[in-house]
Amino acid sequence: MHSPIQMVDLKRQYQKIKSEIDKAISEVLESCAFIQGPQVHAFAAHLQAYLDVKHVIPCANGTDALQIAMMALDLQPGDEVITPSFTYIATAEVIALLKLKPVFVDVDPHTFCMDVEAVRQAITPRTKAIVPVHLFGQSVDMQPLLELAKAHHLAVIEDNAQAIGCCYRFKDGSSRKTGTMGHIGCTSFFPSKNLGAYGDAGAICTHDDALAEKIRMIANHGQSQRYYHDLVGCNSRLDSIQAAILDVKLRYLDQYIAARQQAANRYDAGFANIPQITIPHRADYCTHVFHQYTILVPPDQRSALQQYLAQQGIPTMIYYPVPCHQQKMFSSLPYIAHSLKTTEWLSERVLSLPMHTELDDEQQDFIIEKIRRFFS
Ligand SMILES: *Cc1c(COP(=O)(O)O)cnc(C)c1O
Repeated sequence: MHSPIQMVDLKRQYQKIKSEIDKAISEVLESCAFIQGPQVHAFAAHLQAYLDVKHVIPCANGTDALQIAMMALDLQPGDEVITPSFTYIATAEVIALLKLKPVFVDVDPHTFCMDVEAVRQAITPRTKAIVPVHLFGQSVDMQPLLELAKAHHLAVIEDNAQAIGCCYRFKDGSSRKTGTMGHIGCTSFFPSKNLGAYGDAGAICTHDDALAEKIRMIANHGQSQRYYHDLVGCNSRLDSIQAAILDVKLRYLDQYIAARQQAANRYDAGFANIPQITIPHRADYCTHVFHQYTILVPPDQRSALQQYLAQQGIPTMIYYPVPCHQQKMFSSLPYIAHSLKTTEWLSERVLSLPMHTELDDEQQDFIIEKIRRFFS
């Protein structure tokens, strides 16, 4: 019999690295440098090297990372910011919070990521920034997006919360990691993300020295030197304990990604000849780090399938059942929505299966067999 199946199994992952993690935490406890301790600087330096980016500014969570990025770019109330509606709410929420106007565009039906042609059509003289979201572990097609942004002098803020470690290939053969191609990249270390802390945590990346300085200040009360506050900022610092944990887990990130890719391959093979299922598309311009393994199923069978699997002890999730533009939050907030047909089509069909670093063959074969039985 297989062991219990979870969407994400953080416990088994922790058990494998327990001695390293416990040691890292106890070092922080011994030092009592809980805020801005040496672990924060060490982790930032290691992440900079991993991502090959000039600056990493750690912060309290991924939502703050997005907010601070937009504050650093001096966007003004009413400025239009183009983003997909098919994303986690945080992306659109911070745009609205800063009194900017979200402009929702559709996604590609295969990659589920922002459709660059839709972005082109959504640009107006009031557009100031684009926020591509690298959804489920796969990059937005960045080369045409960056070219478009450059031609229109628009800032690009990458929401890299779900794709850390994903590698994008440009047409000249060069490649870059997601989160390091736009003006600013934002990521989240929420526990279930591909690089997860044991609490809330996030980071902001940029190659730009002046922007980095400003982001650093905004994340710490606009402070230039102690008790001298030049800008209105916020309190968004990374705890030393979380940094120490992340610094250990960063060393395993590539292994973790490989485990997810291997699990995705096993699912792909298992579902290959089930006509009702569309397996995740893999874009040829990037690697896929499988934050989620999301299939498409017939809309009239989705909830029956979910219930059937739940009865077998197999959890599944719908990311996301309600696109941003249809959330109640936006019924009272200004936004612009372009055609979102694919977004609405996807939200009725997507189903995310258990995906994490500890999935074993027995668990996967059980999941595959049950899904196969449901459709047979
Ligand atoms: C998780 C997530 C965020 C927010 O990160 P938090 O650390 O939870 O604040 C933002 N955008 C996307 C796409 C996410 O998946």
